[in-house]
Amino acid sequence: MTAETIEGMAAQIRGGDRRALARAITLVESRRSDHRDRAEALLEALAPAAGGAIRIGISGPPGVGKSTFIEAFGLHLTGQGHRVAVLAVDPSSQRSGGSILGDKTRMELLTRDPAAFIRPSPAGATLGGVARRTRESLLLCEAAGYDVVVVETVGVGQSETAVAQMVDVFLLLLMPGAGDELQGIKRGIVEVADILVVNKADGDQKGAANHAAAEYRHALALLRGSGGWAPPVLQCSALENRGIDAVWDMIGRFRAEMAEALAVRRADQARGWLWRELGDGLLDALRGHPAIAAALPALEAEVAAGRLLPTLAARRLLERFLGS
Ligand code: GDP
Repeated sequence: MTAETIEGMAAQIRGGDRRALARAITLVESRRSDHRDRAEALLEALAPAAGGAIRIGISGPPGVGKSTFIEAFGLHLTGQGHRVAVLAVDPSSQRSGGSILGDKTRMELLTRDPAAFIRPSPAGATLGGVARRTRESLLLCEAAGYDVVVVETVGVGQSETAVAQMVDVFLLLLMPGAGDELQGIKRGIVEVADILVVNKADGDQKGAANHAAAEYRHALALLRGSGGWAPPVLQCSALENRGIDAVWDMIGRFRAEMAEALAVRRADQARGWLWRELGDGLLDALRGHPAIAAALPALEAEVAAGRLLPTLAARRLLERFLGS
């Protein structure tokens, strides 16, 4: 990897070379500081080529059919001439190297599609770490010419908030029948969704799917303030490949109606990213500071034993840090 020049790598990525893109994402995911420097140089070189995709977040409880849906959706889009990248955010999973996409049987057809690029979640990182790398990987995919980037996340943790902060439109997949609690959907997730889709609306689950859609429509009507986008509730069958086109059409409508709001959303996301980077950078600097490292264990022990107020301990540490 080190033999390659940044400019050479950037040119390959701009040319749509999937293997160069995969190597670049590996670089972005690396924790080595020399890799980080190269990753940042690469991102800087590619920044002008990024930003052109529609960024779609997809979440939903395990088993709702996310991978089945993304495969059907992705194939539908590549069939129309789009280039589709799929990234995953799953900080909790440690299985098969920490990846929900690690299972090779997932999205087999889409994986083989030359117009698609699928990348599993980076292993063994905290949510903050995964989110940062996914954000950067998303930019790399855009620079490589993918005009649709899907960011998939499991719908059970805080990862959807992180994903909502990096996408243009957030899709929530739902099961037929059951309400929020039964589906294991955390409070607040329905509120951040731009489009809700009840999957598995097929066979003997059609009635239950109708029921769920009506229930969510009702819940959304209560939640929603006036004005702006009214999140629609659609139904589809990823397995039977029905209703997938309607989801894409709805995304198109969202994009057209929300063009101005989307520009604001991206600007807010960029500002938020800046502040998270500043926060992370400051914490790293703080932890790595010799005077802090020396004082920390004793102060932490005092705090843990209840002999020192956390506020006072923090103030003392900050004074040492800032006073130097
Ligand atoms: P994920 O955990 O959300 O990624 O869900 P999967 O895509 O792995 O799907 C979980 C199960 O639901 C699998 O057995 C799928 O075949 C099934 N499934 C997915 N989509 C549909 C659908 O539209 N209809 C029906 N009947 N089953 C589906």
